[in-house]
Amino acid sequence: MSTLYFLVGSQDLYGDECLRQVAADAVEMGKFLEGKLEGKAKVKVMPTIINSEACIENIRAANCDEDCIGVMCWMHTFSPAKMWIKGLQELRKPLLHIHTQANEFLPYDKIDYDFMNLNQAAHGDREFGFIVARLRIPHHVVAGYYKHERVIREIKRFADVARALCASRHLKVAAFGNNMREVAVTDGDRVESQIRYGWECNYFALGGLVQLVSKVTDAEVDAKMAEYTSKYTMKTDRIESVREQARYEVALDKFLAYNHIGAFTDTFQDLYGLKQLPGIAAQNLMARGIGFGPEGDYKISALSAVLMEMSKGREGSTGFIEDYTYDLTEGKELELASHMLEVPPSFASTKPEIQVLPMGIGNKEDPARLVFDGTQGDGIQVTLVDMGTHFRIICADIELVKQPAPMPNLPVARIMYRHKPNFAIGTAAWCYAGGAHHSVVSTALCRADIELFARLTGTEFIAIGDDTTEADLSKLAAGNC
Ligand code: MN
Repeated sequence: MSTLYFLVGSQDLYGDECLRQVAADAVEMGKFLEGKLEGKAKVKVMPTIINSEACIENIRAANCDEDCIGVMCWMHTFSPAKMWIKGLQELRKPLLHIHTQANEFLPYDKIDYDFMNLNQAAHGDREFGFIVARLRIPHHVVAGYYKHERVIREIKRFADVARALCASRHLKVAAFGNNMREVAVTDGDRVESQIRYGWECNYFALGGLVQLVSKVTDAEVDAKMAEYTSKYTMKTDRIESVREQARYEVALDKFLAYNHIGAFTDTFQDLYGLKQLPGIAAQNLMARGIGFGPEGDYKISALSAVLMEMSKGREGSTGFIEDYTYDLTEGKELELASHMLEVPPSFASTKPEIQVLPMGIGNKEDPARLVFDGTQGDGIQVTLVDMGTHFRIICADIELVKQPAPMPNLPVARIMYRHKPNFAIGTAAWCYAGGAHHSVVSTALCRADIELFARLTGTEFIAIGDDTTEADLSKLAAGNC
């Protein structure tokens, strides 16, 4: 179970009675927040930190606990921050600084010197803020009374991002085939992405998967077909083509489980031994939280797995998508985003239909795929690019819309969206920022989630949205020079 360690700071200057109250308030606050986290994480209240040794011990405990996704700190009283230096230097978990108080209101008629000494986060949290800033530790600060909805919302956000970060650090990515020939933006520095995000991205021969495919039994295919027909509508009589995809998914399932892999890539240029490009097989895996990137795009495969983890427990859809084509009607510009086949069914607003249709590229058998119309609502589009000297995350606010008219001849699933603040600025900003044509779209996450992920991983972050202006375009353009 995901756990947040709660470290409350004080010192031994104020006497036992004060420290007893600090410990009791910490327990009460921890219990309250755990309830408000609604299963996202347990809150483990640690013994009050009153010296350097206690700090080191608590932070080591957090580091060594596999269930610990992050550390929350709060200074109930003043807590001289030199006692935090050595502990914080060892901290390996995401850090949240809750700048709050046990009391909401000042008791004007009763306040005395003891009360002021006991409840001095305004004093102690500034000292703590200084040392975290001085140590240059990326972290999140949430300020306000801990029972206020806004504060609770931010703590929940931290829990989601910290849990995703934890998953990121444990993520293994399998690359079947290499990067698509000649494509630049999908490539990247795998050593650096392992250092920064933890992604262990390794190459696997497709022949190994082909062997697994050949060993899948009819009974296993029958079971997978039963799953497909329970979730989706069969709109084809070419059942053998669908069974072929079911075989791929069963084989992929075994491969992923055996190698502890949470995300994978393939490429339509390297399908030697497979009759079809994995369509419904990849789509159904994405629906189960497995990251996917086509054309060898390991970055988007890993990022989609991480962002799907971040979105767990929230309303909305999250998954991989590719920018495809526009409706450039002036003032009403829209984008149609899709892929060859591999659009995650979490985006479906209509019950997905299983169809078997030809594919214009790839020279393979007609693949079975899920076709549906896309979901609607406010969302974000997120991508990660390798700038040579560093990674950059770009996050654009978008509005997913209903497709204006049916597209009876388009044989793939699709979503449609409107760019913000408008087409001209939104898409130009994306181009200036070097944004990829592969991204993760989410109606469950928002800019603040991605900004926090970028900050905690030390990644450059560029946001595009209603607050982006013409002047920002000039700045983005100048940033490339
Ligand atoms: Mn693509």
